[in-house]
Amino acid sequence: MRKQILGEFSIDRVVEYEGPFAALQRIIPQITSEDVDANADWLKPLFLDDANNAIMSFHSYVLKTRRHTILIDTCVGNNKPRPQRESWHLQNYDYLQAMARIGVRPDEIDFVCCTHLHADHVGWNTQLVNQQWVPTFSKARYVFAKTEYDHWEQAHRSALALNQPAPNHGSFADSILPVVDAGQAMMVGDDFEFEKGVYLRAARGHTPGNCILHAHSQGAHAVFSGDILHTPAQLINLSWSSNFCYDAQASEQSRKALVHSLADSSSLLLAAHFPGPVAGHIVSQGDQFRFQGLKFGS
Ligand SMILES: [Zn+2]
Repeated sequence: MRKQILGEFSIDRVVEYEGPFAALQRIIPQITSEDVDANADWLKPLFLDDANNAIMSFHSYVLKTRRHTILIDTCVGNNKPRPQRESWHLQNYDYLQAMARIGVRPDEIDFVCCTHLHADHVGWNTQLVNQQWVPTFSKARYVFAKTEYDHWEQAHRSALALNQPAPNHGSFADSILPVVDAGQAMMVGDDFEFEKGVYLRAARGHTPGNCILHAHSQGAHAVFSGDILHTPAQLINLSWSSNFCYDAQASEQSRKALVHSLADSSSLLLAAHFPGPVAGHIVSQGDQFRFQGLKFGS
């Protein structure tokens, strides 16, 4: 797989799963079959299959600067009990092998950055070793936005106290707390700077402390946008928040701000779930927007 070059930085990805995920209307409840038909020419077959299931990817990005190797979002993970989501339950993905194939060892990761703490963005934070969840990236500092961490810690503790099901499929307990216990967590503000040109910004709504990551190098710019857009189909109508958004209105505001800021620019959008071609640009088309993908790989 060929890397994307961003000034002095490089960007690669580690794929956990790519394929049909769920009915598009389950992800975006407001979309109608008329909307799908009117946009089938660009949605199918890349982003939507014949049965109108969204094609989605679950991947991590690896951003390499001269100083750091930063892993962005860590997918679902292996051996995680997720009985409420069959496709994530007790998986055995070849994610670490995929990481090896792009020439990255787990102990080379300096930072793990989770845009938010949903179960499909934290999974590889930990792995099961001798029946214990331990950090997968032994030398990494794991960066969590404090607002996001505090929200889910509270949700986790109240579920425990009330004997209710754990939030986020139990991922706070098996993919966040072991990192904290190992002393590898870094709670940061929404404007945390990893180094010059690489920084977080708050983008609320999908979750209470949701952040996106910006990378600038030598005039080039990329945004790791997490789940601000789950699927390019949301570009048909930017007010369509996903079924998984905590605050649909705030999510809409964050999505509009991001898309308008990127539209018709050379800035690269790197979403957490867009399938191949994965990386690309936002272009305006009349009063709508489209995603114009670049090819990852030759
Ligand atoms: Zn996600």
